[in-house]
Order: sequence, then structure tokens, then C-alpha cells
Amino acid sequence: MDSRWKKSTICVQGGYEPGNGEPRVLPIYQSTTYKYDSAEELAKLFDLESPGHMYTRISNPTVEMVEKKIADLEGGVGAMMTSSGQAASLISVFNIASSGDNFVMMGNLYGGTTNLFLVTMKRMGIEARVVTSDMSDEEIRSHFDERTRCFFCETIANPSLEVFDFDRFVPLAHSMGVPVIIDNTFATPILCNPISFGADIVIHSTTKYMDGHAMVVGGVIVDSGNFDWAKGGKYPELTQPDESYHGVVYTESFGRSAYITKARTQLMRDLGSTPQPITAFLLNIGLETLDLRIRRHSSNALRVAEYLRSRSDLVESVSYPGLPGDSEHEKAEKYLREGMASGVVSFCMKGGREKAMKFMNSLSLASIVVHVADARTCVLNPASTTHRQLSDEMLRAAGIEPGFVRFSVGIEDADDIIRDIEEALAKCL
Ligand code: PLP
Repeated sequence: MDSRWKKSTICVQGGYEPGNGEPRVLPIYQSTTYKYDSAEELAKLFDLESPGHMYTRISNPTVEMVEKKIADLEGGVGAMMTSSGQAASLISVFNIASSGDNFVMMGNLYGGTTNLFLVTMKRMGIEARVVTSDMSDEEIRSHFDERTRCFFCETIANPSLEVFDFDRFVPLAHSMGVPVIIDNTFATPILCNPISFGADIVIHSTTKYMDGHAMVVGGVIVDSGNFDWAKGGKYPELTQPDESYHGVVYTESFGRSAYITKARTQLMRDLGSTPQPITAFLLNIGLETLDLRIRRHSSNALRVAEYLRSRSDLVESVSYPGLPGDSEHEKAEKYLREGMASGVVSFCMKGGREKAMKFMNSLSLASIVVHVADARTCVLNPASTTHRQLSDEMLRAAGIEPGFVRFSVGIEDADDIIRDIEEALAKCL
């Protein structure tokens, strides 16, 4: 890749650069395995002494080229695609935490991630400790101890839309000797590069804006290569011999790529949450238009947020970081490109859950789906769907009221989206 390329160019042409006479479009290498001329060559691959593919559970050329594109978009040293965003969240933490360890998470994470961390990972012996941004630094620090392995957060939280305060939390986490792992799904690398604000590991549910067409479930982990795993001796899984891999010491053999190499050679090998070549191919089509789409999502969402704010007769409150006066606006201006704030608008109807349901049922262009970040406008009431496993207390910690509507503004004409909302609101009068 030409290092002068801008993000919009990387979106279109990054990752795959065909040679003379090769296919113009990223080829789908639909093969589980790879042929070698000698046993010695294959042995070298197993010993991690030479690069190449041996088995698609671990790596595949189509997937690798899309991983390269995403790593370049995020400014990382390497990336690993996973079968889902959930798998990316799990592996990103499990790569550096074992039974008996703990990690600190923001209380506003996506409901599925919260459930994974607080319920399922607890059963693995890994404790997630919840902090919120209204706590003092001292209170947050008190959640860390010598077994704390990372700080996990979201750039734009789903669905509270709280924008992560990098300048406050990144130095805090680093001062406690742990890396920051950030879920950048809602912002996408187009609006924010967390690595440039000091984050160490970036994850995505690629199912959302990166794909953007509701076609394929997927996830990705990007390694900044910047965290010093050897400092403080806290990460023996990276700095001590890996018994399951001929005693390799990841930090010694792979330097800045230690974390992402271990994630692949050890955890992807063992857990097998592998993306399929066709998934990577479809994701790549989505990525080609990501820059264009995110601009449109953002400008449409701003118009929708402005309209909803003007409807204080029926709408209690509107949250959209791009909206002047919004509690997150200042951080959006600081951390999100050109203050663009992506496509999700959250609002609360007067009359609570019942009115929210009535509004949703009255929409015709926007569809009710368990999804967000699609090219097509869609809508969801988190309390009764995606976040229904959470207690009322956990819901409030995630910034969700029962009557909250999460409105995912698509890339249709903004006038049509607003007319649809206007007509649905008229049925709620
Ligand atoms: N992170 C965020 C912010 C999400 O919104 C989601 C899904 O909605 C996930 C992670 C999980 O991703 P997936 O559904 O691809 O497993």
C-alpha cells in the first residue's frame, strides 16, 4: 500500500493489490487447506518460522487481505478477523487474561458484550469490574489490582451514545499498567482511530457499519503494536514460553505483533471462531464504500436528531453526539472526524415504553429489526430486545430508559426518513 493513501482510498483499494494479469476483484480462496512441495516447508510453517497458510481455521488468503485493509484503516500492525463481534470481544480479553485474573469495563457497553463479560467470562474465572464515567478517577483506580489485565470500553457506546473520553481514561489505564481495548464499531475507523488517541487494541463487530448491508456476521481485532507487554512482568502468556507452541516466546519472536500473533496461533487455533472466505469477500465490498456511507449516515442522522429535538411535544429527550448542546457533543468534536457522529440516534418518547412501541409500529420506511448500522433505516427498543437480559440497574448503568428508542439512520434520502418519523409521530398524538 502506498503510505500516502487516505482512508477513503484504502477503503476502495487497500489490502488487495493485484499483479499483472491477476483478477481485478479480490478473489475468494474457497479452500480449507494449502499444498506444499515438501514436509520441511510445512514444518517451518508449524514452527512459525516462515509465513504462509496451512489451514483455514487459522488463516486464509482472502481473509488475510481484508485483515490487511482493516489494519491499515485503523493504523495497526496487524488484524485478525473472527466469526463475530462477540468472538472478537472474547478473544481480545482472553488473549491476556486467565482464570483468577480480572479486567475493568465501562458500564455502558453493548448488552451482548456486558453479558459475555459479566456472566460467561465469570464462569471462566475471569472477573469483569464495572466502572462509569461519573466516578472519580480515584474511585475508578480502586477497581484495579495486580491481577487486572485490561480496560475495555466503546468509542461511541451502544446504545447510550456516550463518547469515550480518551484523554481522561487512556492515561489512567496506562498508569495502572494495563492496555486499553476499545470497541470501535459505531465510530468505524472513518470517524475515529482510537490508536491515534492512545488505545492499544481495537475491536469491531464488522456486522455493523463495516459490512453495512446486513449481509454477514463478523468481527475483527486490530493490534496497535504499541503496548509494552514485557514491562512490569504482568503478561507471562506473551513474555514466557508457550508450551502449546514449542515454547515460543511471542514478544521475543514477533516484537510489536506479539499480541495479534498469539491471538491467531493459539486462540484461533484452539477456539476456531474462524471467518469464512466468502464472509471476508462480502465484508470487503462493504468496506469499499465505508467512507461514503459513514458521511451520509452522519449527515442524515444529524437532520433526524434536529427534527426529533424540534418535536418536544412528543419526544422527551434526544441523544446524538453530533447535535450541538448534546452532553457528548464536545467529545464528539474532539475525537470524531469533522464532528461527524455516525448514524445512530437515541431518543425517549413521552409516555414511555408504550408510546415507544406505538411509534415503532407506525413507521413504514424504517423497519423493526435486531440490527443497527445498516444502509436501510431501522429501529429498536433495546429494553425489550437486545438488552433484555440486563437488570433495570444494569440498564440504567448502560444509559437506557425503558421508553428509549434506538433509531439507526440509513443512507436513504433524509427527507423521506423524516417524513416517515413525522407520520409515525402523528399516530402517537
Ligand atoms: N459490539 C457492538 C458495539 C455491537 O453493537 C455488537 C452487536 O450489536 C457487538 C459488539 C457484537 O457483534 P456481533 O453481533 O457481530 O457478534
